[in-house]
Amino acid sequence: MIKGTTKLLGVVGYPVEHSLSPVMHNAAIAALGVDYVYLPFPVAPQDLQAALAGFAALGVEGFNLTIPHKQSIIPLLSEVSPLARSVGAVNTVWRGDRGWCGTNTDVEGFLSPLKALNCSWSQKIAVILGNGGASRAVVAGCAELGMAEIHVVGRNPEKLEIFRQSWLDSPVPVAVSVHPQSQLATLISRADLLVNTTPVGMYPDVDRSPVDGDILGGLKPDAIAYDLIYTPSPTQFLQLAKNRGAIAIDGLEMLVQQGAAALQIWLQRPVPVAVMRQSLKAQLFG
Ligand code: NAP
Repeated sequence: MIKGTTKLLGVVGYPVEHSLSPVMHNAAIAALGVDYVYLPFPVAPQDLQAALAGFAALGVEGFNLTIPHKQSIIPLLSEVSPLARSVGAVNTVWRGDRGWCGTNTDVEGFLSPLKALNCSWSQKIAVILGNGGASRAVVAGCAELGMAEIHVVGRNPEKLEIFRQSWLDSPVPVAVSVHPQSQLATLISRADLLVNTTPVGMYPDVDRSPVDGDILGGLKPDAIAYDLIYTPSPTQFLQLAKNRGAIAIDGLEMLVQQGAAALQIWLQRPVPVAVMRQSLKAQLFG
């Protein structure tokens, strides 16, 4: 129940109508019985600074950021975690003593299902498809695991080179090799972890895969295939990898765990991850 004492949390995006975060966070808030509410805040790019001032005036406790604000928020914050600086994106903000503070929980979300596998990563090779925003969190996650090689495959040579260079200049430098799509077959045959960070195969384009079946046929049978997409489940990419014998991980757990990590920052207490997962599944799959 919303009362005079209810504290405000939310997600800032543009558009924000399709965000699943309100469902997941309000389910957790209800299960905990805490006096909070989590709202969608549609904020146009040019209004982000004004929104921050408004949030401070209203006493908003914290918020998530989604497209297009994850990068543009950085200069507006008084503190940014080194991890978020490396990734170049903030998805979680809270109110500190000296102003707004930000971090990135996508990396923790991405890593959660991988850590649950209890593998040793130091000799392992990661191949990452795509060089956009989510790919940056994946690279940071692979670096945190201490993986031996991190390869990123993209379709635009200029963007790929900027991506590679940005990791050398980062507060936590990472050696990333970048490759055109023509090298996919060779790279995939060496991959221990193959991650799709492109939107190819996402609903409604459910029959598409970022990698052709014959190239995916070269995947090692004990490899891990990880698709950040969560609808459909499995994607064509994961189904092809599963046919090969690979371990398949979809993007739902990353979504749940990045949200759980954010809520834990705001509430400073353990949060009901199973409730958050269940609410998302109900929303997505009925
Ligand atoms: P983004 O910044 O737009 O990056 C997308 C990347 O995919 C870019 O490198 C883009 O290449 C590439 N790409 C797009 N279409 C392609 C195609 N047809 N063939 C080859 N490459 C293509 O998007 P993002 O924010 O990183 O999100 C990417 C995906 O991850 C989305 O499906 C999103 O839903 C998912 N995601 C999931 C979670 C989660 O919690 N599970 C979190 C974040 C994102 P160019 O740079 O050349 O355009």
